[in-house]
Amino acid sequence: MAAAPAWAVGGADVSVFAREYEQARQKFLEAARGCGARVRHWPHPLPGPHGEALATDSAWVGAEDAARVLVVICGTHGAEGFAGSGPQVDLLRGPVPATLPRDTGLLLLHAVNPHGFAWWRRVTEENVDLNRNWVDFARPLPANPGYEALREHYNPKSLDAATLARHEAAIEAWRAEHGVHAERVARSTGQYTDPHGIFYGGSGPTWARRTSEAILQAHLARARTVAIVDMHTGLGPYGYGEPICNHAPGSERVQRARRWWGPSVTEPLLGTSSSQEKTGLTEFGYERALAHADIAFVALEFGTLGPPHGENALRDDAWLWQHGDPRNLADAQTRRIRQALRDYFSPPREDWQEAVLWRSRQVFRQALEGLAGGAAH
Ligand SMILES: [Zn+2]
Repeated sequence: MAAAPAWAVGGADVSVFAREYEQARQKFLEAARGCGARVRHWPHPLPGPHGEALATDSAWVGAEDAARVLVVICGTHGAEGFAGSGPQVDLLRGPVPATLPRDTGLLLLHAVNPHGFAWWRRVTEENVDLNRNWVDFARPLPANPGYEALREHYNPKSLDAATLARHEAAIEAWRAEHGVHAERVARSTGQYTDPHGIFYGGSGPTWARRTSEAILQAHLARARTVAIVDMHTGLGPYGYGEPICNHAPGSERVQRARRWWGPSVTEPLLGTSSSQEKTGLTEFGYERALAHADIAFVALEFGTLGPPHGENALRDDAWLWQHGDPRNLADAQTRRIRQALRDYFSPPREDWQEAVLWRSRQVFRQALEGLAGGAAH
């Protein structure tokens, strides 16, 4: 990749971004070791598309018993990890690790869904949306009647133009009757009945969830104040990073998020976000695992190309893995579908990458200031 231009926005060096999982992992591990982070590998049982080993990697910077911790997560949604990995590398290469206060630690989780990251999918190896998987599976699972009504149209058996047009027309008719919001809920709030379908929340905790829980247990049992930034892409204006907060409206946690990240914080439950209400979010798992600490969790969501590109990419990906030949990387249709998904969720453009880096630095700095107790109201 070319060197950063002399007039790079905010000093952004887009060489932190990668186009393959293994390259992203390499950059992350090099940057982590370069700043003296304590690195742990959490090996995944399956290989990547090139036979490469997969893992979630965690990097801890700072004193082991730090009471205040900034956590940055990438790859919850697989291929979105390319966009989240770059800012993690940027953070590790920059001045923050060497200048952390004595009582502050940095915990970076790289590729929490490594299978999706490597295979350029949003979901895990179980076809599960990890960000819908954090429900209590001992209790009745959330129902999504809208999804049930539309599932055959969201998941066509064939991708020919006539079939797609028929299903799109059916979805459009349902939207006209029930409203735009109801259709978004039906599609993407989460469903627990259709294991091959889109936005499936699973039938139990996935490898990715269990691994995240183990990392939290290993590193954050003694933390007292924790800021969590979970890096995402796909919703909202191109290149803008929206800190989406799903803590209970009016709660202490959401007030803390506002103190730290200011008025840019949005709340799906209040209708102020590019996202809508969802079930089984990672955030809820962190609330439970970190009940002993004062936390604020945001999903930092970077917009890309907008509808209908993302919807189509997810539809085609689900089709590929149920009906196509996803492991045949030489197949033209497989290549087209995989690449469309990766490029939607992590656009390979410098202007977008610069915007992601600039905004990420701002959000990380605000979090560190908030942890230090110095944020202005
Ligand atoms: Zn996401």
